[in-house]
Amino acid sequence: MAPVLLSTPALVISTSQLGESDLLVTLFSLKAGKLKAVAKGAKRSKKRFMNALEPFTEIIASLAKSRPQAMWRLDSVSISDNHETIRADYPRFVLGNLCLELIDLWHKEEVQDRNAFDLTRWYLAMLGTSRSPLETSLIFQTRLLKHAGLLPELTVCSSCGNVPATGPVCYARGTGEIFCRECKNDRPGSLSLGTLRCLEFLSSAEFANIDRLRLASWQLVEGWHYIKHLHCHHLGREPVSYRFVEIDNKKQRVNA
Ligand SMILES: [Zn+2]
Repeated sequence: MAPVLLSTPALVISTSQLGESDLLVTLFSLKAGKLKAVAKGAKRSKKRFMNALEPFTEIIASLAKSRPQAMWRLDSVSISDNHETIRADYPRFVLGNLCLELIDLWHKEEVQDRNAFDLTRWYLAMLGTSRSPLETSLIFQTRLLKHAGLLPELTVCSSCGNVPATGPVCYARGTGEIFCRECKNDRPGSLSLGTLRCLEFLSSAEFANIDRLRLASWQLVEGWHYIKHLHCHHLGREPVSYRFVEIDNKKQRVNA
């Protein structure tokens, strides 16, 4: 049987040791979604893959497998962008890791997802710029939820269907559905109308227009807790990387 060959742009999510000299590499690829591949000899000789197997690195990966059910073998790589600026700055590094963990958790293996790939590539590129890394991360997380169909309707009350005229609104624990002041009963979650409108804008605006939006730091904190809550609820656990991001105003390790 002829081997299956694949050449694709990909982002390195993680690596782990495999035996004496090999690495098991998890990639998020344009053409085949998330996939795992064996990099023969990569542990013994970093030169073999030109240090391209560090997390965040954007590569063109050449892969092969002997038959459709076999494991991918990573034959060669070329680096498109090593995203050194993310690795060199702790706040960006923490937020970049959160991105890779979310991509890993949200995606099944070998299911192509071009929109999520483009979003992740956009995010890693933006994370290397001077734009607020927390705000950029909130945009990424919000759009990832929307792409998965799990971002609730943010413009109208999910009970009465009216557009909330005054804030703050409440949201249901779990699904995050929005309730206006008249319908909120005793639900605990609270969001200002301003934060809600910002989230709606950054979930749906063209990438080129997102730069126009700047969130106040309290909106960033409110929005962050809401979006994090949704990710944790739908994944059924808290991604480990969230623990390294201290978002609250009083104790803000990552600068907004
Ligand atoms: Zn209502």
